[in-house]
Amino acid sequence: MLDWLIVGGGVHGTYLSNVLTGRLGWRRDRVRVLDPHPTPLARWDQMTANVGMRYMRSSLVHHLGLDPYALKRFAKTPKGRSWARFARPYNRPSYALFQRHTQCVVQNQRLGDLRVRGRADGLGRASGGWLVETDDGTLKARRVLLALGLSEQPCWPGWAQSLRDAGGPVHHLFDEGFQREALLGWRHAVVVGGGISATQAALALAKQQPGTVTLLARHPARVHQLDSDPGWMGPKNLSAFLQQPCPVQRRSTVDDARHRGSVPPAVQRKLGYAVADARLAYHVAEVTDTSTGPAGLVRLRLNAPPGTLLTDLVVLATGFEAQRPGGAWLDAAVEALGLRCSACGYPIVDAGLRWADGLYVTGPLAELELGPVARNIVGARLAAERLAHAA
Ligand SMILES: Cc1cc2nc3c(=O)[nH]c(=O)nc-3n(C[C@H](O)[C@H](O)[C@H](O)COP(=O)(O)OP(=O)(O)OC[C@H]3O[C@@H](n4cnc5c(N)ncnc54)[C@H](O)[C@@H]3O)c2cc1C
Repeated sequence: MLDWLIVGGGVHGTYLSNVLTGRLGWRRDRVRVLDPHPTPLARWDQMTANVGMRYMRSSLVHHLGLDPYALKRFAKTPKGRSWARFARPYNRPSYALFQRHTQCVVQNQRLGDLRVRGRADGLGRASGGWLVETDDGTLKARRVLLALGLSEQPCWPGWAQSLRDAGGPVHHLFDEGFQREALLGWRHAVVVGGGISATQAALALAKQQPGTVTLLARHPARVHQLDSDPGWMGPKNLSAFLQQPCPVQRRSTVDDARHRGSVPPAVQRKLGYAVADARLAYHVAEVTDTSTGPAGLVRLRLNAPPGTLLTDLVVLATGFEAQRPGGAWLDAAVEALGLRCSACGYPIVDAGLRWADGLYVTGPLAELELGPVARNIVGARLAAERLAHAA
């Protein structure tokens, strides 16, 4: 029987496998990470490449190494030096530096060796632990950590689903298998979304083909450096949050605190320059429906000027569905095992992120305990502190 089975090997699952084996002293042969992808952080790599980000939104102490200053030190080594760029505020590392540091951590700590390729599709109790059903047999572990992110649930607005079902040219930036850089030779691309990912992807497409891209946001720009106030990374905001016993209140605090669909000032400035140079068009409007346009184009009807857009490529950057990640197998486990959830469907866990004896959560599933930063890299680091004291 394993000591720990982590379900999900993205940023959270991979970092926490590093913490368990590299810091907390669990035996490497007794810790495994179950994930359907061949390499650690596969979805992170794909989604961030599609966005085309040049700098991280988070600071240089948020990464997958154990020591908070590991990335800073890495930037001074021969391997890191040529990528060592930082942006203000918060000393945000270049995306290239972050990626290279992550690769080094994964290689040096041999985190790839901890992986089992597969997908959990059932969870039940076993004597002294848990059984995780997978598409390739059953795994048994004393402790299970659910590190399911949101990457498997990109949000598709209704009109876009209908367009896709009719065979229309629409993709989601975060769809598995979608590659922005493989898109070539469109006549007019429309990027739908109002946040940082939409803006960065629209800028990247406009760089590929200037003057042929429109960014369509349904709300005016919400300019914020981070996706929630930095006070949420520590006791300043978290202390009061943790004193709130009601999970429904906690959910509403998390939702209010998160700057959904927001853009940092530097990215917003780049958008302004691109619009001024006519490299990119920008409209604030919502799509109401779609129809066939002339010359093989699709017509998007809008509820505000310019009224319609003609396009042969729609790229959605509309974020993720808000529902609890996991889907049917986790729903069934919640029901069968009587796992406590709030009205929003998310786990009610204790201070050690324990959902039941030996069953732990991180990432969005830990939101009602770790607050609005739970999904971010710092959320994984906060989760490590809780697990270190609990397990
Ligand atoms: C474009 C982009 C940029 C971002 N930039 C930043 C940033 O600069 N700083 C920051 O702090 N945060 C950032 N974030 C937010 C957050 O850090 C990332 O979304 C991060 O990838 C979340 O990691 P995760 O491990 O929780 O989730 P995921 O990346 O979704 O990984 C979860 C893994 O679990 C797997 N899985 C799901 N179900 C199962 C199952 N049943 N069995 C086995 N495996 C399963 C999935 O396939 C996936 O591989 C960004 C997010 C995006 C989308």
